[in-house]
Amino acid sequence: MTATFDVINPATEQVVDSVRLVTAEETDAAIARAAKAFPAWRAVAPGDRARLLRRFADAVDADLENLARLEVLNAGHTIGNARWEAGNVRDVLHYYAAAPERLTGRQIPVPGGVDLTFAEPLGVVGVIVPWNFPMPIASWGFAPALAAGNTVVLKPAELTPLTAVRLAELAHQAGIPEDVFQVLPGKGSVVGQRFVTHPLVRKVVFTGSTEVGKQIMAGCADQVKRVTLELGGKNANIVFADADLEKAAAAAPYGVFDNAGQDCCARSRILVQKSVYDRFMELLEPAVLGVVVGDPGDEKTEMGPLISHGHRAKVRSYLPEGAPIAFQGKAPDGPGYWFPPTVVTPSGVRDPLAADEIFGPIVAVLPFADEADAIAMANDTDYGLSASIWTRDVGRALRVSRAVEAGNLSVNSHSSVRYWTPFGGFKQSGLGRELGPDALAAFTETKNVFIDTEG
Ligand code: NAP
Ligand code: MG
Repeated sequence: MTATFDVINPATEQVVDSVRLVTAEETDAAIARAAKAFPAWRAVAPGDRARLLRRFADAVDADLENLARLEVLNAGHTIGNARWEAGNVRDVLHYYAAAPERLTGRQIPVPGGVDLTFAEPLGVVGVIVPWNFPMPIASWGFAPALAAGNTVVLKPAELTPLTAVRLAELAHQAGIPEDVFQVLPGKGSVVGQRFVTHPLVRKVVFTGSTEVGKQIMAGCADQVKRVTLELGGKNANIVFADADLEKAAAAAPYGVFDNAGQDCCARSRILVQKSVYDRFMELLEPAVLGVVVGDPGDEKTEMGPLISHGHRAKVRSYLPEGAPIAFQGKAPDGPGYWFPPTVVTPSGVRDPLAADEIFGPIVAVLPFADEADAIAMANDTDYGLSASIWTRDVGRALRVSRAVEAGNLSVNSHSSVRYWTPFGGFKQSGLGRELGPDALAAFTETKNVFIDTEG
């Protein structure tokens, strides 16, 4: 008997598709095929590999509206965001399509011979993807991995398999061999675990919760398997008294409520200098109440539903009777896993509302006294993914950027993701970097060869 999984539209609670779950045995067979396909794939001439990736990018571009609509249906993303996400896959593919011809080694002078350093592909790479950004996060793994000459097995989240399945079809139509890029919808505990334990998978790229990331890292230790981890965040949005407060307040909702707060980079802790706290809250309230929540397929919608019934229950559990809610926007009643944008004022940074990655549309606002206090509060967390700093003082912007223990800082902005710059976390937010030139190093192994020329 084959198990299937009902794919649900989180905006309507309707079943939209049914996907067959890949078993452990099928995963092993897929990994074996990927390993068998590796020597031929790494031997493809760099220019030809580049051409295949560009054709894949073009196929994504031609299918962009369809991919975006699928994500609206499966993940409840707003149509505007979903189009950006499909476009990001195309751009990431184009960016890494430039890599095969430029992935060069080095020649280092040595006495008595010639010394060569090669950037070798690893073999089979296993990519494990979460449900919050199914398309971009998949491509941040598969595009550089394929460009560097690896073969890829990819597991989408059980809740959101549809776009990954479509991306594999597009890759194969573009001429990338089926065994070189395989998408395996299934359970983390089955398919994902085989990526960790199977000796022919040489690297695991995981994005998801810190809790599961720790298990993956521990599992990989057994074979000293390479691992890249992109985990959670509880990111500070630091607003200094000298900032353009109107701009900071207007941008704050987007910084946290985008994708209904289901974003590892969500700026879910707003730290505001005491002297402007009241004024900032006055400005923030209408901005939050103005967030348009509803049908994600509607072009005007700014925030869609949460991903699932279970996830909404988890988010809701953070707001028991008497929770310190400052103000709350509106959301539809249902059906659909709706939750209103909510601003809370917990007592301190270690309050669960200010410390836990809630992964929903709840933002904590906390006052700070001075710059040192702001830095201490921003760093008083196990996470370290991203942060924003709002100030007009250039010196302060740089001082605070250097002092905050996070991988991605933005000044007077919440922008964290550009496909050509590195992305990743400090501390328990992850290990390694994705995107930009850094990701290529994460998909290659350095080999050094010495040739004696003295006879
Ligand atoms: P998760 O459990 O960490 O899942 C992420 C991915 O890992 C999914 O594909 C999942 O598969 C797979 N997985 C789960 N357990 C596994 C295991 N033991 N071995 C190998 N793979 C495994 O995340 P979630 O349950 O979807 O979300 C829980 C919380 O994680 C969220 O509320 C949020 O706080 C955080 N989160 C963070 C990010 C981020 O971008 N940093 C993304 C998503 C979630 P299945 O789901 O198909 O079983
Ligand atoms: Mg989970």
